[in-house]
Amino acid sequence: MEAIKYPFLDLGKVNEPYMDGIREAVERVVCSGRYIGGAEVEAFERRLGEMAGVAYVVGVSNGLDALRLILRGYVELGVMKAGDEVIVPANTYVASVLAVSDAGLVPVLVDASEETSNIDPLLIEDAVTERTRAIMTVHLYGRVSWGGEIKDIARRHGLKIIEDNAQAIGAMSACRGLYGGYATGGLGDAAGFSFYPTKNVGALGDAGAVATHDKELADAVMALANYGSNRRYHNIYQGFNCRMDPIQAAVVAYKLGFATREGEERRGLAGIYCTHITNPKIRLPRLEEGHVFHQFVVHVEDREAFTRYLSANGVGWDVHYAVPPHRQPCYADMLGKRYSGVLEVTERLARRCVSLPITRCTSVEDAIAISEIINAF
Ligand SMILES: *Cc1c(COP(=O)(O)O)cnc(C)c1O
Repeated sequence: MEAIKYPFLDLGKVNEPYMDGIREAVERVVCSGRYIGGAEVEAFERRLGEMAGVAYVVGVSNGLDALRLILRGYVELGVMKAGDEVIVPANTYVASVLAVSDAGLVPVLVDASEETSNIDPLLIEDAVTERTRAIMTVHLYGRVSWGGEIKDIARRHGLKIIEDNAQAIGAMSACRGLYGGYATGGLGDAAGFSFYPTKNVGALGDAGAVATHDKELADAVMALANYGSNRRYHNIYQGFNCRMDPIQAAVVAYKLGFATREGEERRGLAGIYCTHITNPKIRLPRLEEGHVFHQFVVHVEDREAFTRYLSANGVGWDVHYAVPPHRQPCYADMLGKRYSGVLEVTERLARRCVSLPITRCTSVEDAIAISEIINAF
């Protein structure tokens, strides 16, 4: 097998151009002597709030915790209670679903649209029952999952809309959010962000954030993330320790300034792939305004042969995701239940998806060369 000439991802290289800013941010925190909470976390929260167009941001430990805290917050506030249902796309990373079940809520999975890989908005209303309290929308691969249908269904049935914005920081919707903005993470009632190192804006470890337009929810999330305490030695909830590390806050706040440029670069590479890959065996994603291409995912019937071919020709690749949440052992009891048995599109996408290199480790010339290799498959 040939050595990998076009690596899928090299995080050291991704962070290289930011080294001076990162070093300065880390040094500032170390010298400040403040290692939990404080000015660095608050500055990060303000910055992300401006970017997403939301009034309240709470920095937290990671993206899963961000989503868990939103749902637990709604439960503590009496907006939802154990056994209530939350609609979640079947085609997502398992964390979206884990957040729902962790809060004692029931994830109701809705199949994907073949065209977008995101939740099929035309299937959502059928899944609504008298127990439904929220729709979680996931902007998978950085493609915005938002539109009139989701807003109308939520309004008609009095549902909250929660965004899983882990993969779509900097993405822009073509359709206004509930509060008038267009940036993902500010479209619905509340959103979870992840700064996991491989995400479009990555920390140097785990980090995440909750963004919301709802002050009560923000206060509940802040308390829950801090042992359930809203003032010192006063615990109003049975909470957790899910605080954001100030070193990560300082690094991420610095890197947020480059999110738009990162998104443009990724869209540029996606454009190259979309114009240069002409092999009819490869189904390409649709290019869209505002899509930030966290992953560039193609679909191919014989994935086994295709990925073997890519490796043999020095092209790095990955699969996001081979096993959908409802096929994971931890959700074995979901199979056969309503809206969880027939998730045909999700299962087909899971069998066929392949992610191609699309970070700053990949140059325009690389993307053209990779396209040519793929055309010869
Ligand atoms: C990464 C990711 C999460 C979880 O974020 P972590 O920071 O890794 O906990 C949740 N949802 C989606 C769609 C993700 O891609």
